[in-house]
Formats: sequence, structure tokens, C-alpha cells
Amino acid sequence: MHIAVIGAGMAGLTCARQLQQQGHQVIVYERNADVGGRMGTRQTELGGFDHGAQYFTATSDLFRKEVAAWRKAGWAAPWDGKLVKLDKGVAANAGRSNAKQRMVAVPSMGALGRHLADGLEVRCEQSVTGMERHGDGWLLSVQCDSVPIAATAGPFDAVVLALPADIAARLLQPVSSLAGQVGQEHLEPCWALILGFEQSLDLDYDGAWVEGSRLKWIARDASKPLRRPGEHWIGHASSAWSMEHLADDPERVKEKLLKAFHEATGTHVQPVYADVHRWRYAQAMTTLPGECLWDGETRIGVCGDWFAAGLDGSGRVENAFLSGSALAAAIR
Ligand SMILES: Cc1cc2nc3c(=O)[nH]c(=O)nc-3n(C[C@H](O)[C@H](O)[C@H](O)COP(=O)(O)OP(=O)(O)OC[C@H]3O[C@@H](n4cnc5c(N)ncnc54)[C@H](O)[C@@H]3O)c2cc1C
Repeated sequence: MHIAVIGAGMAGLTCARQLQQQGHQVIVYERNADVGGRMGTRQTELGGFDHGAQYFTATSDLFRKEVAAWRKAGWAAPWDGKLVKLDKGVAANAGRSNAKQRMVAVPSMGALGRHLADGLEVRCEQSVTGMERHGDGWLLSVQCDSVPIAATAGPFDAVVLALPADIAARLLQPVSSLAGQVGQEHLEPCWALILGFEQSLDLDYDGAWVEGSRLKWIARDASKPLRRPGEHWIGHASSAWSMEHLADDPERVKEKLLKAFHEATGTHVQPVYADVHRWRYAQAMTTLPGECLWDGETRIGVCGDWFAAGLDGSGRVENAFLSGSALAAAIR
């Protein structure tokens, strides 16, 4: 079959690779200039910062096997950073949370998507804005920033939507049975803070879950393997704060989150680099049971990290991988 995959995050790339291995002809459409989605790396003059997914864990046999292959290929490595709980500058042991083996892509989170996309036909900076029936197949409306009018792509025998639920629901309007199910699911936003310091902060931990703050998580990016050295930190605001300040001016958000960073760490060193990134759809609020959706009649499939995929909870890299993999198996 000639298959379009919309979205080049972990779910879309996993599904596309497996469909191609099955002998299908696959084209991946990606809105951003780079692949990887929420496993992204922001490039700055100080080097890359992993401002999305921080690490991943593997609990299922299938994902463990995949991660072992990534390690063997040199695409991923364990992160043994010291993680604590932080309350107004006071660090406490993170307890059981430290028992897990945390993995990161190397030399940056963004690099993994590029490895997975190798050998696939990926059309970056092409946002899919609509789908319409064309005989037995599907035509896609595709918008590119540099061209003011939408182009039509296809026809495709099948379409995979590997997108946050809120975006997938909008595109699924022509397939009411799937649109209804997907429309129940929503993802919450997250404002990410990106900080580079010239001098050491003298903090004896590499990452922290923060209590009683706008920030819920901070991490020393350079403590991860094969990163460029430097006092580079990432902060993630809580879902509730990010939702409340969703439409705020980024400069104001930066000011407020930097203040929260200083309060949380008890340091007052000013960064030489500071920026924020708004992840509009960051974290699944609810979980759709099952692994993916596949409608054999219309030949439309949906996958993403908001499916439980046999795990407790959702919204993680492992959910995205398992969901994309399950959809490729369903299509076969
Ligand atoms: C701040 C943050 C921290 C996180 N921390 C962790 C963590 O520590 N551990 C963990 O396991 N997970 C973490 N996650 C979650 C993890 O990143 C996701 O579970 C996983 O990356 C989701 O993959 P996906 O393929 O389902 O979706 P995405 O990565 O969102 O991929 C969807 C892709 O579709 C593209 N797209 C969207 N609309 C269109 C369109 N109309 N046309 C074409 N392309 C489109 C997007 O640009 C994107 O590339 C975090 C996420 C965020 C945002």
C-alpha cells in the first residue's frame, strides 16, 4: 500500500519504519523543520538543550529489546544523574524514584529521531491541514510556510495519524467513528525554561522534582552522557501553571520561571542565556485504553503516547513507541 504517516515523533517514526519494512511505500509528513517531535533538542550558541522529553524508561519486553538495540548502535545511553526532591532550596532523597534505570538518546534527544528517520521519505515543514476521500483512497491538504496556498498530496491507500489527540481529532472530521473516540482525549501544555550559566551553581544534584513551585522539574542538561560541558539547565513548569499562562508573553513567562528557578535552587546567579519554549500539547491528561486505533474499512489509523499500550498510565516515550509499533502490526 501507499501510506501517509502524519507526524514524525516517536510514534510516527516507529510506525513508518515498520510499515516500510513490511514492504509498504511510506511518506512521512512533519510540520516542523526537524523530526523527533517532543523528543526535541533546542540548538543555541551554547550547544543543544533537551527541552522536551528528559529521559525514558523501558518496562515492556518489546521496548526493552528496542532500547537494547539503540544502546548497541550507540544511539542511547544510561543517565545516572543524582536526582532529588526539592522544596525551597532544600534537597531531599527522591526515594524509590531513583531505582529506575533512566535512558537518554546521545548525543542529544533530538538525535534519536534523526536516526529513526534515516532511510524514510520524510517531508519536513509540511503541515497536514485536512483529509478528504478520493475514490477508495485519501487526499491530504498540505501547507508549507513558504507557499501561501495548500497543496494536495496523494492519493494514499491508508493514512496514519501519529499526532497529539487534539490535533488528530481535528483532522479526523471525515471519519466520524474515530473522531468521536479521539475527541475525548486532550493533552496539557508545558512551558519549558532553558538556562545557560557561565559560572558554576554549586548544586550537588543533577535533576530535581520541585515541590510548591511553578516549576515541577529541573535538570542539569550537561550531566547527561556525551553532552557539551557547561552549566546548562532545563526547567519544566507544572501543567496547571502552564495552562493558566498559556497565552502569556514569552518574556513575562521567562521572568517568572527564572524567579522560580532561583527560589527552588536557592541560587541567585544570573544566566548568560535564557529562553522559554511553549509545548502546546505536552502531556496526556487522560489515557485511551488499548494500543492504537485502526479502521480497516476507511484504512485510517491513529497512534501516539496518549494510548495506554499496556502500561500503567500514558504520556511517555515508551507509550509512543508501543502504540506506533502496534499500529504497524494492525495494518499488516
Ligand atoms: C516537556 C516535556 C517533557 C517530557 N518528559 C518526558 C520524560 O521525561 N520521559 C518520557 O518518557 N516522556 C516525556 N515526555 C513525553 C514524550 O516526549 C512523548 O510521550 C513522546 O515524545 C510522544 O511522541 P509522539 O510521537 O506520540 O508525539 P510527538 O512527539 O508530539 O509527535 C507528533 C509530531 O507530529 C507533528 N505534527 C503535529 N501536527 C502536525 C500536522 N498537522 N502535520 C504534520 N505534522 C504534525 C509534530 O510536529 C510532532 O513532530 C515529555 C514531553 C514534554 C513535552
